[in-house]
Amino acid sequence: MNAQTPLASPIATASAPAAEQNILRERGQREVFCGLTGIVWLHRKIQDAFFLVVGSRTCAHLIQSAAGVMVFAEPRFATAIIDERDLAGLADANDELDRVVAKLIERRPDIRLLFLVGSCPSEVIKLDLSRAAARLSKVFSPGLRVLNYSGSGIETTFTQGEDACLASLVPELPAEAPGAAPSLLIAGALADVVEDQFTRLFAAMSIAPVRFLPARNSQDLPPVGPNTRLLLAQPFLAETARALENRGARRISAPFPLGAEGTTAWLQAAADQFDVDEETFDAATAAGRERAGRVLERHRPSLAGKSIFFFPDSQLEAPLARFLSRELSMRIVEVGAPYLHRQHLAAELSLLPAGTMLSEGQDVDRQLDRCRAAKPDLTVCGLGLANPLEAEGLRTKWSIELLFTPIQGYEQAGDLAELFARPLDRQNRLKA
Ligand code: SF4
Repeated sequence: MNAQTPLASPIATASAPAAEQNILRERGQREVFCGLTGIVWLHRKIQDAFFLVVGSRTCAHLIQSAAGVMVFAEPRFATAIIDERDLAGLADANDELDRVVAKLIERRPDIRLLFLVGSCPSEVIKLDLSRAAARLSKVFSPGLRVLNYSGSGIETTFTQGEDACLASLVPELPAEAPGAAPSLLIAGALADVVEDQFTRLFAAMSIAPVRFLPARNSQDLPPVGPNTRLLLAQPFLAETARALENRGARRISAPFPLGAEGTTAWLQAAADQFDVDEETFDAATAAGRERAGRVLERHRPSLAGKSIFFFPDSQLEAPLARFLSRELSMRIVEVGAPYLHRQHLAAELSLLPAGTMLSEGQDVDRQLDRCRAAKPDLTVCGLGLANPLEAEGLRTKWSIELLFTPIQGYEQAGDLAELFARPLDRQNRLKA
């Protein structure tokens, strides 16, 4: 085994959820990235963490390509390559892993949190990374905490990597003090600029304390308990939410903070929990709402009436479809999602236009047939499908971009709309 670092470095709306009969359940071949991809945005967020993938050269190439646009002097992710000797059982993979980690920590003493990230190969050779993490934590404590999660999977989707990573942090969170005042915990990686904006908005409503998971600093672990109100910032955190709820946190049901309407409803759901009066809420949010509304108006002419088809990939599909249909008047052809979490998405599904076609899971060939037949103006899909569809004359948007770009909150509503307007504008310019 050797380490390979990268080359360069509840809303007021009370309508019923979308009818179950509108959901097409698919169980066929999938075209998705695995959970390792999440490392690309998580390593930027948790600034003193390091992600060591225990995997093959394929895993290393995936991470390098996904992160290829970023150049770091000191990257904070790498792959401990499981080679033929490890696979043939000729080497003790645990000894090899210990050696790689010792070398890494010697070279990078600034690392405070190390994630051992499991992959298909590490699971094939049944390498027990939870035991390895416990062993290494003992060796390197108190300066270094070692955790593990799995990023592998053909049956998963790429955002599940973040869910698994955050769920691995939950047992590390301290218990809140007995009788602690209610606190707000926002779960889901947000760009720092977005986190700062939300922090200011909550402060303007006198909601405190507000904490984030993950935090920028790995030592900054938010306490959790029965007085923790949990607000999800991302729709793909099923395991994390379950783990936090098992520790007593109470989830606030809300749409996700995409677009002006989504952001207002998300903030309102938190404000209601903390008894923020209407006047205070309006004063805190009016300027942001107005700015977001204005910038969205600028994008409306290029998007209104255009049709859009979502292949299942990021799990952001339902909130995006809600935003694009309600705030930009786009026509939704199909909303494909790898998995529809009925509870977490309840508020979103109730806001989709009546009769919206929802599909859960994937049978890629059948879905491609539906997409070709519909000829949507824009198709949101994974990298693997985008090129062939572009070659057939369909305009596409890579769903992974929606994870790499700050899109939540009022100030980002325009950038979010632009992500969808850009391919259509480019097409118009080419035609001209
Ligand atoms: Fe590695 Fe498996 Fe992901 Fe392929 S699908 S990159 S083998 S973890």
